[in-house]
Amino acid sequence: MFEKDRAWIELDREALVHNLNTVRRLLPEGCRLMPCVKANAFGHGAVQVSQVLMEEGVRDFCVACLTEAIELREAGIEGQILILGYTDPADFPALIKYDLSQTVVDCGYGKLLSSFGQPMHVHIAVDTGMHRIGERAEHVDEIAALWQLPNLIIDGVYSHLCVSDETSEESRAFTLKQKACFDQLVDELHKRGINGFMTHIQASSGAANYPDFRYDIARIGALIYGNEGTMEDQVPARLGLRRVIRLKARISTVRKLYPGDTVSYGRVFKADHEMLCASVGIGYADGIPRQLSNSWHVLVNGVDCPIIGMLCMDSFMIDVTAVPDPRQGDEVVLIGKSGDLEIRACEIAHKAGVNTNAIVSILSRRLGRVIV
Ligand SMILES: *Cc1c(COP(=O)(O)O)cnc(C)c1O
Repeated sequence: MFEKDRAWIELDREALVHNLNTVRRLLPEGCRLMPCVKANAFGHGAVQVSQVLMEEGVRDFCVACLTEAIELREAGIEGQILILGYTDPADFPALIKYDLSQTVVDCGYGKLLSSFGQPMHVHIAVDTGMHRIGERAEHVDEIAALWQLPNLIIDGVYSHLCVSDETSEESRAFTLKQKACFDQLVDELHKRGINGFMTHIQASSGAANYPDFRYDIARIGALIYGNEGTMEDQVPARLGLRRVIRLKARISTVRKLYPGDTVSYGRVFKADHEMLCASVGIGYADGIPRQLSNSWHVLVNGVDCPIIGMLCMDSFMIDVTAVPDPRQGDEVVLIGKSGDLEIRACEIAHKAGVNTNAIVSILSRRLGRVIV
């Protein structure tokens, strides 16, 4: 209810399913696709996205933290939900209550999980060079000892690639080194008779740029959403992915400005001729970067409209002089197509000096999410 009241995100269901199936074809035979729906599915809406994915047969999901996992369970998402980050021991009861899979962030943490005293599904994170989380891959004895601990149901062993998006010789060599390091650990475990766990190392760029890597699972975020990570990112086009997100808001008022009138806080915009100004009901509290103030544009009925003045928390103003008959309640497109024009999330990211994930992942919770 009220999803399209003021400002909202439209999720293109067909595009999402198309991307899902494209990634499935990209992965080696038998490799399970575990979509990454952390950070509210990169801002798209974790519940809405996961529901569509579940309808399309997905049974494995990963998220960053406990609260994200619980949100999905409470919305009825079934199957495996893997928490990629640290969970405070005080919250271990919730891992059991919601039947979640927890990452073992290092061997000491594995002992903590074990000593909680109830059987718990876990995946062991292994550090092969990113040095963010995971036990160092060389610590074979310590890692192997985790299988001796009670209560740990070890479903997986995984690592994460840190330069698989880069194609320089040095980055390719580093990625291959990470893979070799991981493979060696897995070999060592097998040699010690430790089996029955799944392996995973690839995320989006790993799957796109190293499709020959063969593991049991691939944790895929960005490719599912279809956005270019930066303006230079060729991967979505090469794979034929489609952008899932559209961001829209409504015009709340339309007014005339006369020469000399100024707009918004700080009065940085001054009208030098008579013009039409519209307020748009979305602002920086919704995740729209304040750097777009007075120097960006949006689309109204297929017409490009400059943003005038500083962005406010819940709204900003635009010049709608060129729009035929602009009205209160009209749709404004911030990301997506309008007529022949399109604004992509990566263009906004470029303007704001960040990557696309940093824009979409903070789109506010108060924006409605509508599947279209
Ligand atoms: C965020 C994340 C992913 C998904 O990343 P993409 O590059 O968007 O596919 C996978 N694995 C881990 C550990 C992550 O943190």
